[in-house]
Amino acid sequence: MKIVMARLNHETNTFSPLPTPLAAFGAGDPHGPAFGGDAYQVARGSTTAMGAFIDMAERKGCELVTPLFAMANPSGTVDASAYRTMRDAIVATIAQGCDGILLDLHGAMVVEDEEDGEGALLERIREIAPSTPLAVALDLHGNISDRMIRHADIVVGFKTYPHVDMYDTGAHAARLLFDMLAGRIKPVVAIARPGILSQTLCQNTEIPGAMRDGVEFARELERHGALAATVFGGFYLADIADAGMSVVVVADRDAAKAQRWADDCSAMLAGRKGEFIFRETPLGESIARARAVKHGLTLLLDHGDNCMSGGTCDTIDVLAECLRQGLTHIGVGPLCDPEAVAQAISAGAGATVTLDVGNKIPMRNIAQRASAPLRLTGTVRAISNGEYTISGPIYTGTRCYMGRTILFDIGAARIVITEQTQEPWDLGVFSCVGLNPMHERYLILKSRMYYRPVFAPLATTIIECASVGVCSSDFSLFDYRRVRRPIYPLDA
Ligand SMILES: [Zn+2]
Repeated sequence: MKIVMARLNHETNTFSPLPTPLAAFGAGDPHGPAFGGDAYQVARGSTTAMGAFIDMAERKGCELVTPLFAMANPSGTVDASAYRTMRDAIVATIAQGCDGILLDLHGAMVVEDEEDGEGALLERIREIAPSTPLAVALDLHGNISDRMIRHADIVVGFKTYPHVDMYDTGAHAARLLFDMLAGRIKPVVAIARPGILSQTLCQNTEIPGAMRDGVEFARELERHGALAATVFGGFYLADIADAGMSVVVVADRDAAKAQRWADDCSAMLAGRKGEFIFRETPLGESIARARAVKHGLTLLLDHGDNCMSGGTCDTIDVLAECLRQGLTHIGVGPLCDPEAVAQAISAGAGATVTLDVGNKIPMRNIAQRASAPLRLTGTVRAISNGEYTISGPIYTGTRCYMGRTILFDIGAARIVITEQTQEPWDLGVFSCVGLNPMHERYLILKSRMYYRPVFAPLATTIIECASVGVCSSDFSLFDYRRVRRPIYPLDA
């Protein structure tokens, strides 16, 4: 039995000014995505859905064909030619014939000339392989279209955020595909939408709330006979028709039952829609609250500018407000500003310099107040190649590259400035330039979720700070024109 399997993964923030060329799909590897045998090598043993596809298919003694393994960090719309190159690699392989298809996709990919990247891919595959069993594993943040549902036999999404079940989701999708190939099941797929443009900060499945209850509802449906049930939180930073939450249920043979299950779960979510919207506190109030904290380390989360949601990692409002209110002992980073890094390195370690830092990438797609870089004078304390190995629980052992990196000490604050954007996954982002966060009272992190396992245990207080950025939770910054209406909270 011959199975074609591929990974094509991007969460597109249509408001982000960051480009998404083919090279971005190597997830840090500048050579771009892996094709053919290279794709197999990268995917095998990974904790992705595709890693599970390989394990399951090999256990069954299948012949595997792996045209593509591609993943880019969240950023702006995908370059049209990059998309075509990756899509065509998958489609050409399927055109040579196979018994089953397994795809590891995201569900929120937007291309320059196509707002439903996954739907268009599946449609193209159906043109050449109209009846080949096809299963898709998707991210919980997928914005699911009717086209995706129409052109897939099996759709399964993650049930956790932070995502710790990528592999399990792939195994679930593959198991159903093999059941279908063996004639044990005849899957039918239904979708329902509660009409909510949910914010990612309200989708944490590790804490009590409507999202976790929604996922539990889905698990209950699976215990009662659904082949798969998924609550998609959706990705709100996309101005496309299908942005928002959805529920997708796969049932055996009974389409009416699949639809009823999806509708029931969707109605439960709609009844709790208020819990999916994050209420921001004005930045000045958040910093005043931080100022009143007397002991321990306080994390200040600049979640409006998170690179794992398409942020530029270069806004500087939170530090500016801290300095305005007279806070000291502040650690900051990583902040991406290649120009400031170059100036600091040419001045040399130990030099005192004045740098214009941050707010350099124009954000044309959001209603942003005018802000300029922050002019700061300080000492270049350290210069590093910005490399470290993750010791924390997410991506453990992965070597990370932030580009050339400096530690800039302005007295009240020590700022880690890098050439490339970087999520604070690990203490390595600071230790690579000799900064110990435990020697500070405040730590400004451009993070929403991934900081948790490493930095939350070090802190006594965590304060979410509202800042301008392309992943802000302030809906008034975004001019939605294409989202299907009505939708909460844009419409009452
Ligand atoms: Zn996600």
